[in-house]
Amino acid sequence: MKSYDLIIKNAQIHTMDEDRKVYAKGIIGIEGEKITLIKEMNELTPEELQECEGAGRVIDAEGKVVFPGFIDTHIHIFQSFLKGLGADHRLIDWLNLSALPYGQYMTPHQHELAAQLACMEAIKSGCTTMSEFFYTNQDPELAHSCIEGMVSTGIRSVFIRTFQDTGEEYGMPKCFLEPAGKAMKEVDALKKAYKENDMLSIWTGPDVTWSTTKEGYQEMLEYCLSENVRYSMHIKETEVDNEMCGRYYGKDIVDMLEEIGFLTDKFLAVHCVNLTPHDIERFAKYGVSISHNPAPNLYLGSGIPPIPESLATGVNVSIGTDGAASNNSTDMLESMKLAALIQKGIHRDAAVISADDIIHMATAGGAKAIGMADKLGTLESGKNADLIIFDPNHLKSAPMHDAKATVVYASSEENIDTTIINGKVVYQGGKFTCGIDERSLIDEINSELVVLKKQLADK
Ligand SMILES: [Zn+2]
Repeated sequence: MKSYDLIIKNAQIHTMDEDRKVYAKGIIGIEGEKITLIKEMNELTPEELQECEGAGRVIDAEGKVVFPGFIDTHIHIFQSFLKGLGADHRLIDWLNLSALPYGQYMTPHQHELAAQLACMEAIKSGCTTMSEFFYTNQDPELAHSCIEGMVSTGIRSVFIRTFQDTGEEYGMPKCFLEPAGKAMKEVDALKKAYKENDMLSIWTGPDVTWSTTKEGYQEMLEYCLSENVRYSMHIKETEVDNEMCGRYYGKDIVDMLEEIGFLTDKFLAVHCVNLTPHDIERFAKYGVSISHNPAPNLYLGSGIPPIPESLATGVNVSIGTDGAASNNSTDMLESMKLAALIQKGIHRDAAVISADDIIHMATAGGAKAIGMADKLGTLESGKNADLIIFDPNHLKSAPMHDAKATVVYASSEENIDTTIINGKVVYQGGKFTCGIDERSLIDEINSELVVLKKQLADK
């Protein structure tokens, strides 16, 4: 006899599994954190029907659509304080006007508030997993505050504690620099402090190719391969990456990474704007995943990565929002639409990428990119219950002819009726269940910004 904590009934359910199975009027049963029932309503046996009637809670999703929750594979949470700062400047200038100065002075409490803002905004756009790429390592307390802020919202969290061991010539503040060996000790300490589980995993990675020495890569790799730790890095976002690598090591960055054994299925490569066909082949060969961040690539004028080419070669691609300083929001729906439209435009071919490709990237592709394909990314019995209930009945999206097209091309956060993470309703009908008041959070952030701006002006 099954005892369901939560039943979602009468929904059009898109599993996003390999066969793209869709239930026209389906039911999902959740016990604890897992999906243990998923089928058409009219196929329920009398015994199953009885079990469903005894559920702790029933959500009637008549007229609504259920998808797996979206997985954001790249963000810098502290940048939620910096929306619009450094606008209309090139990447290195933008960094020096926004993320780098502010990143040096934000307090632990401000990091915690930024995490709550980013994660709650993400949950509102259907995101159930957030992968934070953390690089303000001048004070170990900041990482703890960020993690605590993420966890307090109920979002599934990947915390990527990165490092920089060079890069001053490009403006990397000295206070961020540390030897890779020291950084790995900090990563290890975080792993011990938080006892990782399905809701929180800790990774590492070099911040960006121009802030990493060859020795730094090697030391990190030794740690990651021996401790089975995943890693991520910004790569080939602009020409600066290769310029630095060419000058110091006389090589293309991907050539060098291949040589030292850095290209593995534990590597999540962020941006990849300037990947060559040869790079794509090697990413496919070694199982490297891509985090595609269309908004910052456009906002900073970096360019458009070869995503259809990567998919066609068998590379796993996921979607990230990137930090709000270079996106101005943490809205997965917006990033998904951009990811589709920019490829159609640059290829002058509307068929080059589909709504299904985009939703796959944001769900199953994301799950694979974070090493959780066995638990997340599709709606199947035995998987963790991370899902959204999408309500198409709003002016922007109505009428709905094709649910995938509506989600990718005609939606906004008002369509996200309910977000469920690990079996728990974290957002429903415009309200969060984490106990954090949206308006009070915004007010507190605004008053913290007054203090922070004054502090920066006095420097
Ligand atoms: Zn980034």
